[in-house]
Amino acid sequence: MNAPRPPLKSLDDALAELLGYATPLNGIEQVTTFDGDGRVLAQDVVSALHVPPQDNSSMDGYAVRCADVSASGVLLPVSQRIAAGASGQPLQAGTVARIFTGAPIPVGADAVIMQEDCEPVGDAQPEQGELGTVRIKSVPQVGQWIRRAGEDVTRGAVVLAQGQRLTPASLGLAASIGMSTLPVVRRPRVALFSTGDELVMPGDVAPEYMPPGAIYNSNRFFLRVLLQRLGCEVTDYGIVPDQRDATLDALREASLQHDLILTSGGVSVGEEDHIKPAVQQLGELDLWQIAIKPGKPFAYGKIFKGAAPAAGAREACHFTGLPGNPVSSFVTFLLLVRPFLLKLQGVTQTAPVAMPVPAHFAWPRADKRREFLRVRRNAAGGLDLFPNQSSGVLTSAVWGDGVVDNPPGRTIAQGDVVQFISFAELMG
Ligand code: AMP
Ligand code: MG
Repeated sequence: MNAPRPPLKSLDDALAELLGYATPLNGIEQVTTFDGDGRVLAQDVVSALHVPPQDNSSMDGYAVRCADVSASGVLLPVSQRIAAGASGQPLQAGTVARIFTGAPIPVGADAVIMQEDCEPVGDAQPEQGELGTVRIKSVPQVGQWIRRAGEDVTRGAVVLAQGQRLTPASLGLAASIGMSTLPVVRRPRVALFSTGDELVMPGDVAPEYMPPGAIYNSNRFFLRVLLQRLGCEVTDYGIVPDQRDATLDALREASLQHDLILTSGGVSVGEEDHIKPAVQQLGELDLWQIAIKPGKPFAYGKIFKGAAPAAGAREACHFTGLPGNPVSSFVTFLLLVRPFLLKLQGVTQTAPVAMPVPAHFAWPRADKRREFLRVRRNAAGGLDLFPNQSSGVLTSAVWGDGVVDNPPGRTIAQGDVVQFISFAELMG
């Protein structure tokens, strides 16, 4: 007799519950700014200076007082030369300063004229210290070609906020205010287990010798890398042996040294495997049926670390179990485990951004569950659908560059605007 099926949980409810369990890790470490990519800031980063520090030129040319150039064709002597890295003298009225990109604007100058609009007159020899005279062929506007002090960052501003994930551009910005190291949240430690007696590792058995019923372990490869991209330190336990005691030992040991144990396979209703009873014996386990497609089954639980203390809460390691079908595993990781791991690291904004894009396909059969259809953007500004949406067809996730988030009970007609979430958004 089958046990009664638990009611389906909506993805939003499942996510809210899961995020409720994700108490941010404590533990700050300093990393060099070079090594910060993908890490999460543990504190605000405040600028101690303006960037740029002074008004400076955004062109090679001549710094002028606009009052001296009321008409095109004016001739003015060059009174100084200011290269990037140098600092000039106040600009004497009735003269111009030769200036280069990035060099500070001299006091008194209020515009830069690009050198293409100027013509040196006579045959001054700059290498002999002669500065000469120039004809100015355009009438400047006050402020032109000047980058203002503090235009990028003002002194005292929060340049990067606690809970923000560092990107290549944010590392550059941190460097621009003089940060050689950054305070980041420690990496989550994650233990990865694959389950299933049918699984074989690539390299262990050549394709032509695969026994009937055997398949290669593909989930292990994308899960490990997805975890690493999220800044996790991964211990990969490989395929768990199909023995009760070995499973208990592995889970017990992993729970002591990790924040999360992540498994794939063996969470389907009614399935026999050793992970579920072992987690139940060492802690707690909830099996969820989430109303999404692909990816219905999902497990959340915890494994208590060591013996129970006399008083207070027991320390626990989180447990999440993904379905075994590769696309289900992939999608539930991105929709549930990813935000969970981001929240553990203190990220405040974990929801991926969806954008409206017209469907260049029809999806005539509505499903009771919320669907995540693998699609690809086309050059005409629409979305094409991968023809086989089965949860075992991993090719769909390679061909596609994102998913359509299709609400329950909704059909899609050609040209309908749908919600597209790119894999770049979900995997960055
Ligand atoms: P399960 O969730 O364990 O019932 O597995 C569902 C399907 O996914 C079965 O066809 C499994 O063979 C397949 N599967 C489970 N784990 C993996 C894996 N690590 N790599 C590839 N396929 C898997
Ligand atoms: Mg299985």
